[in-house]
Amino acid sequence: MLLDHLNHKLQAIAAQDLTRVLRVAESATAPTQTVRGAGDSAREMLMFCSNDYLGLAAHPQLAEAFVGGVRRYGAGSGASPLISGHGLAHEQLEQALAEWMAPQIPQAQALFFCSGYMANMAVLSVLGDAEAEIFSDELNHASIIDGARLAKAPVQRYAHCDVAALQALLAASTAKIKLIVTDAVFSMDGDMAPLDQLLALAEAHDAWLIVDDAHGFGVLGPQGRGTPALFGLCSERLIVMGTLGKAAGVAGAFVAAHPTITQSLLQAGRTYIFTTAPPPAMAHALLTSLQLMASEEGEQRRANLKRLQVQLRKGIAHLLADYPQLGWQLVPSDTQVQALIIGENAATMRLAARLDAAGLRVPGIRPPTVPKGTARLRITLCATHTEADIQRLLQALNEAAAELASELP
Ligand SMILES: *Cc1c(COP(=O)(O)O)cnc(C)c1O
Repeated sequence: MLLDHLNHKLQAIAAQDLTRVLRVAESATAPTQTVRGAGDSAREMLMFCSNDYLGLAAHPQLAEAFVGGVRRYGAGSGASPLISGHGLAHEQLEQALAEWMAPQIPQAQALFFCSGYMANMAVLSVLGDAEAEIFSDELNHASIIDGARLAKAPVQRYAHCDVAALQALLAASTAKIKLIVTDAVFSMDGDMAPLDQLLALAEAHDAWLIVDDAHGFGVLGPQGRGTPALFGLCSERLIVMGTLGKAAGVAGAFVAAHPTITQSLLQAGRTYIFTTAPPPAMAHALLTSLQLMASEEGEQRRANLKRLQVQLRKGIAHLLADYPQLGWQLVPSDTQVQALIIGENAATMRLAARLDAAGLRVPGIRPPTVPKGTARLRITLCATHTEADIQRLLQALNEAAAELASELP
């Protein structure tokens, strides 16, 4: 009965061309990887889909630090943090993250979580109690949406980055505690939230600003200190969640905030309390990530990422000018996440399949992940891509565009 029921649902997913498939990366995380698809033999692919933005995931120094952590602390943490899983490496990492965020959040303390998903669940469920109201950008990440579902607080969704709409909602709210929550860099579009204006609103309306900096941490701002640093923000009202599995190259996440807030997460955050602490070696390795991110090498990697981003946008702008009849659109983005909107699901997936056949992995993203009619290629760049890699992607896109344009009536 259950299996029939599930098979029915799986068929419905397949009928809409929405079946997700797992691929196996057989080599280390890098722009060029050996990847095995469902039923396929392994192929070498040029990847434009990883969030390893600084190329640190397989950095020898970081891998060495991880190994060093395993030698020193063993493999597992043994328990949840409040039982016995919180070790010296975890403490050192939280200290380093607190110092890292201190220019943006006076007196900041940091709490280390297993993942960004879990960190967002904790922040929204703990702060969003019955006396609060949550104001959430409509394009926020799934983990924010799920965290808000767990919260007792009512949730108001505001139009994407619409400061005026948010202001109206805040002005009309009678909640004792107002929580604005936003992605700093939106994962499917690559655009940035107007954090300066959002913080000004928070200050004017006695609200708090929760920033999910999954895609900015390590990449944006001086020394890669993140999107709040890029905007030059400094406020006690800021609560920042940063992930450590993207630019930082390992896994996990942190929340940095006023000590009363981190203390509350420690007391009541169920995704912190009731889960085994991350392996100490992971925390140990992340200390090296922070050093690499802030180093001259990190600076060079960010500069390279910027150059690649400019090269890609220029190339796509040319392509769009050559084939206006296709109706493709490049979303304005000043980050390493670049979205090329194709429109229809089928056309998007055909284009992605064509690139795939040419050895390029660029994921097609469809509704419900993005709004209807805005299916797109989501191109993510890493500092370890080369100019030649971008050239290859542009060439393949141009060939596909020429072919698709010739098929138009
Ligand atoms: C990836 C991501 C998360 C989740 O972080 P994980 O550490 O992968 O669980 C949260 N928010 C945003 C915007 C993300 O892109």
